[in-house]
Amino acid sequence: MNDVIVIGGGLAGLAGAVALADAGLKVTLYERRTILGGRASSFVHPAGGELVDNCQHVLLRCCANLIDFYTRLGVENGIVFQDRVPFIDEANRISVIQSSPLPVPLHLLPSFFRLKFLGWKDKLSVSYAMVHMIWHTRAGGQVGKRAGGQEGNKAPTSAHLPLSMQNWLKSHRATERSIEALWRPILISALNDELDDIDAEYGIMTIVKAFLSNRQGYQVGLPVVPLGDLYAPCIDYLEQRGGRVILDQGITEMAVDNTRITRMTLQDGTTVQADAYLSALPFDILLKMLPDTEVARWDYFNNLQRLDVSPITAVHVWLDRPVMDLDFVAVLGRTIQWIFNQTIRDPDAFSSTESGTYLGLVVSASNEWMKQPQQVIIQQALEDLKSIFPAVQEAKLLKAIVVKEGRATFAPEPGCDPLRPGPVSPISNLFVAGDWTQTGWPATMESAVRSGYQSAEAMLSVFDKPQKVLLPEVPMEGIMKLVMGHF
Ligand SMILES: Cc1cc2nc3c(=O)[nH]c(=O)nc-3n(C[C@H](O)[C@H](O)[C@H](O)COP(=O)(O)OP(=O)(O)OC[C@H]3O[C@@H](n4cnc5c(N)ncnc54)[C@H](O)[C@@H]3O)c2cc1C
Repeated sequence: MNDVIVIGGGLAGLAGAVALADAGLKVTLYERRTILGGRASSFVHPAGGELVDNCQHVLLRCCANLIDFYTRLGVENGIVFQDRVPFIDEANRISVIQSSPLPVPLHLLPSFFRLKFLGWKDKLSVSYAMVHMIWHTRAGGQVGKRAGGQEGNKAPTSAHLPLSMQNWLKSHRATERSIEALWRPILISALNDELDDIDAEYGIMTIVKAFLSNRQGYQVGLPVVPLGDLYAPCIDYLEQRGGRVILDQGITEMAVDNTRITRMTLQDGTTVQADAYLSALPFDILLKMLPDTEVARWDYFNNLQRLDVSPITAVHVWLDRPVMDLDFVAVLGRTIQWIFNQTIRDPDAFSSTESGTYLGLVVSASNEWMKQPQQVIIQQALEDLKSIFPAVQEAKLLKAIVVKEGRATFAPEPGCDPLRPGPVSPISNLFVAGDWTQTGWPATMESAVRSGYQSAEAMLSVFDKPQKVLLPEVPMEGIMKLVMGHF
């Protein structure tokens, strides 16, 4: 049995470890923290003792590999999919995006034409842009073409002219209102940056995957248990297959000799060895673990110094009474971008009018809030809530906590895609995963799981146990299948 070490217990490391264990390898996973889940994890609230997620995480039904990972662990029922996606506008009117019986990609059209926050000119401009996104994809957009296997390690062959999403939308007749009320809210949440700072290829790919390919792809999956509960089974899962999860034990150094890792040093000073290593570390930490000479020697690593990061801020608010009856809502025209009613996790606890409400508020690309103290952020979030739900004006704030994640995701800047490496590194026994690697997806949980599966596949090939782990994208349906030539 081959011995492998996985470094990092975020979704990429866990997915890679589970896939390798399923294939019969003996896996030891080292995680620096005392909990699993990395950037998508839960912590114990200091004032209440309850498990709180660092930030509300959602997935879409088109996240095939993430759903597969949950299914392997038997926790797929911890996610509930919503087929209605509500928006609340500046006048507090609710509009809902939902599917109709029309064939894909027209399935969302009836609800789209009913949106109260866009005028007819805006809607026509959105339709025009979407048709162009479909043509662009049919013509073979650039992003993700290098995803998976060895291809991810090569430079792109054709010239990729980086264009921002903002410029792409303007050059495709998007109205100011459609940009402000539709494109920005959707893309800032999916890609965690402003439209000026998003590569148009990423923006187009996101819209096509989520809204135009598949009838259910747009559905929003909400965890109904703390995120930590979704990964808890990993420990038993690996142990039952001969592996181990070692928490609170980070790697501090990787020793490299003649393009092979010879050993890794742990934070307690001991060294460990294996036949192969899967790094699922954030890119800046991976660079610190490697000898400087190796980073300087290979573009594969050196390029990572040019990847930037973008922040997300979560505000958790507990109020003394019910204030909203939606499970979640996208917010237009305020600082807060999404409100998640955590009541969905425990309907009984909050069903009476005497019960309180726990709301999770999210702001992506939250550069402004990174400099603000907690109290200012909480005050601003409450002002937004009061302007949306009148009941908040009378409500008493029981407690609140702000979680700022300064390095939430890599920044999807125009032209950054070629900097994302594939799973096969120039160090022959080191395989690399992380949401920032070449997965064809923006920095999401799906990207992290894809990267773990890709690395596992690459490692299994080297051990002469080739097998397919990565699931393909959800299939195109309806007219879209004909347009794309997928039969
Ligand atoms: C606030 C926030 C909100 C988000 N919202 C969403 C969302 O709604 N939907 C979505 O799909 N995605 C969302 N994301 C992105 C998603 O969380 C990430 O894409 C995903 O979790 C990344 O997983 P990963 O395994 O690649 O990296 P990480 O989660 O960063 O995992 C890396 C792991 O390595 C460990 N580690 C670090 N150093 C060492 C060391 N020296 N030795 C051993 N271990 C080490 C870390 O502790 C960590 O556990 C959000 C991210 C944030 C921060």
